[in-house]
Amino acid sequence: MAQVRLIDIQEQPEENPNLRKIHTTCYMCACRCGIEVTLEGDRIRFISGIPEHPVNKGVWCAKGGAGIMTEYSPARLSQPLMRDPSAPRGEGKLVPVDWETALSTVTGWLKNIRETDPRKLAYFTGRDQMQAFNGYWARQFGTPNWAAHGGFCSVNMAAGGMYSVGGSLWEFGWPDLEKARLFVMFGVAEDHPSNPLKLAISGLKDRGGRFIVVNPVRSGYGALADEWVPIRPGTDGAFILALMHVLIREGLVDEEYVRAWTNGPALVIDAPGTPENGLFYRNEAGEMMVALESGDLVSFLHAQGQGVLEGRFTVDGKTLRPAFTYLQEEVMKATPAWAESITGIPKRTIVRLALEMGKVSREHPVVLPIPWTDFYGRQHSHTIGRPVAFHAMRGLAAHTNGFQTIRGLFDLMMLLGAVDTPGGFLYKSPYPKQVPPPVKPAPNPEDYRPNQPAKAPLLGYPTTPDDMLVVGDEAMRIDEAYSWKYPLAAHGGIQNVIRNAAEGHPYPIDTLMIYMANIAWNSTWNTLETREMLTARDEKTGEYKIPHVIVFDTFDSETVAYADVVFPDTTYLERYDATSLQDRPISEPDGPADSIRQPAAMPWLESRPTADTLIELANRLKLPGFVDEQGRPKYHTYQDFIQLWETEPGSGVGLLAGYRGVNGDKMLVGEPNPRQLEFYKENKAFWRYRLPDDQRYYRMANQKYLNWAASVKWIGKPEPIVLHLYSEPLQTFRLAGQGLWPGKKPSDPVLKERLVRYFSPVPIWYPPLEDQSSDTEKFPLRILTQRPMTHYHSWGSHNAWLRQLLNENPVYMNPVKARELGLEDGQWVWIESRIGKMTARLRYSDAVEPDTVWTWNAVAKGAGSWALHPDSPEVTRAVLINHIIPDKAADERGRFFNNDPVTGQAGWYDTRVAIYPSELQKVWPEPHVTARDPVARSVALERYAYTTSQPIPVEAHGKGNH
Ligand code: SF4
Repeated sequence: MAQVRLIDIQEQPEENPNLRKIHTTCYMCACRCGIEVTLEGDRIRFISGIPEHPVNKGVWCAKGGAGIMTEYSPARLSQPLMRDPSAPRGEGKLVPVDWETALSTVTGWLKNIRETDPRKLAYFTGRDQMQAFNGYWARQFGTPNWAAHGGFCSVNMAAGGMYSVGGSLWEFGWPDLEKARLFVMFGVAEDHPSNPLKLAISGLKDRGGRFIVVNPVRSGYGALADEWVPIRPGTDGAFILALMHVLIREGLVDEEYVRAWTNGPALVIDAPGTPENGLFYRNEAGEMMVALESGDLVSFLHAQGQGVLEGRFTVDGKTLRPAFTYLQEEVMKATPAWAESITGIPKRTIVRLALEMGKVSREHPVVLPIPWTDFYGRQHSHTIGRPVAFHAMRGLAAHTNGFQTIRGLFDLMMLLGAVDTPGGFLYKSPYPKQVPPPVKPAPNPEDYRPNQPAKAPLLGYPTTPDDMLVVGDEAMRIDEAYSWKYPLAAHGGIQNVIRNAAEGHPYPIDTLMIYMANIAWNSTWNTLETREMLTARDEKTGEYKIPHVIVFDTFDSETVAYADVVFPDTTYLERYDATSLQDRPISEPDGPADSIRQPAAMPWLESRPTADTLIELANRLKLPGFVDEQGRPKYHTYQDFIQLWETEPGSGVGLLAGYRGVNGDKMLVGEPNPRQLEFYKENKAFWRYRLPDDQRYYRMANQKYLNWAASVKWIGKPEPIVLHLYSEPLQTFRLAGQGLWPGKKPSDPVLKERLVRYFSPVPIWYPPLEDQSSDTEKFPLRILTQRPMTHYHSWGSHNAWLRQLLNENPVYMNPVKARELGLEDGQWVWIESRIGKMTARLRYSDAVEPDTVWTWNAVAKGAGSWALHPDSPEVTRAVLINHIIPDKAADERGRFFNNDPVTGQAGWYDTRVAIYPSELQKVWPEPHVTARDPVARSVALERYAYTTSQPIPVEAHGKGNH
């Protein structure tokens, strides 16, 4: 056996003249920590954190350090591949081709589409960190069919926040744990986000703060918590409504905050059955009106925070009520006893927690000696905060009632006075934006014409039904985003694409381009059927229903087998990138920040950065934003694009905000700087700006901040951003469902009924749609996954270090429930949902509430992929529950996907199952793909072998990675 050379971290790197360091941004998960890569010659020897970096402050996790083995992974794709024309798609018979062959083939397909019907290109991406670039590329191409992964990730979190406060959690906002006394975390897996949150929790606990975790599973963060509140999946919205019930009932609402900064006092027209019902009563200037204690009606701004929150007024024959009363009415129905029956949380616990939140916020205000001026022109001598902070993620989002649940969470924060106040929720720059942000896709078919760019950005935030991308009742996008089925699909619906494309609904497509998304495995649901759809043929012509599939990826995933053309991407350690304010910023609450990636190693063999490949295709296709008037390329590489592109010609706003201007001395707005990347490199690959203290809080209302934000083009005008306790945009959709909206509206009764039912302007709770339509007695349990700390999506299982930490995944069940069902610890079981069944090994765990079972996500791998040996534990003992997650809703004859009816978020966590003993003692089903031509892989293995003191002969490994 060859001897492994361990790297001694006690070595003094400075003393070794062969060592050098490169600063860049980690991509082993989505946190984007700053890392220092130590190289010996051209070999990566060590990865550590950058102490000055705003995200991780020098901390790096084991996953980040294991980036070395991702760089040297045996699963790397090293050259372009094309399907052997004699082999059917899905068998993985791909042959190496030169770049010119791959590029000219794809250019031919795309040129034909663009000249005839650009909709026939569907371009969808996974958790890429260049969405601004990808969206721009697709817009220049002219297709409406582009989105990233948000539809199956957490669009509910993003949209729920954007439609409430013009920001959200994760990349858009953050709990202020430096000043919080009480921190409540809902539905957050172990790694979301990782280092930054762990640092913050550690600080909170050092200062004596209390930490509560609300989650069906006590794992990761839950183990650190002072209190774990087990909750049934999909019921968090009921819990949140009940918390608000207690706060209102006990007089613990921060009324001053609600009156001044939210639309709670704005008067709503109460006229059921009329087109005005539920809309704000406005003056001739279009301003919202409020009532004063005197009964006088004045504009919201004129009232200066003195509008009343309760009452009923009659003006011009119209009945008017403050928006707050609508919320009050809804939450008064949500008693703790009601919530107990739904959530499983005892009503005494609900009351206790609500009182604790209310009392901490009221009795322990944070008072900072920071004067500021609000948009009313009032000066405040101090900045007051309410030290109750929340964090939430996919556990709330990935349900078919998730949007309204997250609306509820933000309304709860408003009632506590904890939005952008010290100790509460804080925006991350460039947020807050207007509620919702004023960007939306072009809504008409003629906005997407041959040889033209699309008229507007492809994703955004509709404000009325007129913004829908529909023709009558039919969707204009292949994923049915912005249709009556999923009107506020702000991140698109990647999970809908393959079935719709295979069924030609709403129209057939020609080419499916996939970047960094494992759509044939863990980035899809109903996996086995999805794989059949990717290979489905037209009965008459024998042609594939999706004629061309193009995959851009770094690794040999399960999806590669379904490609007609594969473009090999580099790793994050081999390319330039920008983590941009135009995309998912790395800003902290104290101000904007962004960062770059720069190559620490040469691209492996013939791999190329996908952005470079897309730029090459754009230049060949002469996409307008990529070429000048003579058709000459403006950019040759992504490096060029990062430095030279502007949002509009002459806007001065580009991908990177730091070191702008020809001398690199401007920030945020300034001419492009052709040496901008050099400045970043000199500053350890990041840039940050700290807001002055008097612009750090109450930013939606802080006039000095609003003036500055407008000057740097983050908001259109320095106008107030009023928080939406009540959502008028949602009400307009309800009116459309009732047939009362004067513009676009559906005619199908089922579509109408969905709008009426789910588009409540105040948060509501309803059972997940799966509960409403499937047999809950036959399938009594809910099954969930979590991402483990060691793996990021599929990416852990080909990493030789990380896969030693986790390479199989039993399904965990509460022992009391398991014994009730006669199931023993360690036995093999069947897990059956309404669409199929699979086996898994069962393990007892006290750390899961009784009605839930759970397992890790994406540890299992299909035999033949990821350079894994067919006997690897990931293939033979790990399980993937995606096989049995329904992609379609149970009712309505399969018209709807298993999605949130507001945003189209995939209802991953709504799946119901039955569990019973299995006679089969192994993993089933056993999907596999044929291993790729071993030529490329054997070269990769040689490289992989360099980490040992002696090269390992390739034959010694066989064809796989044990
Ligand atoms: S938390 Fe994520 S980004 Fe940060 S070091 Fe770990 S893997 Fe890298």
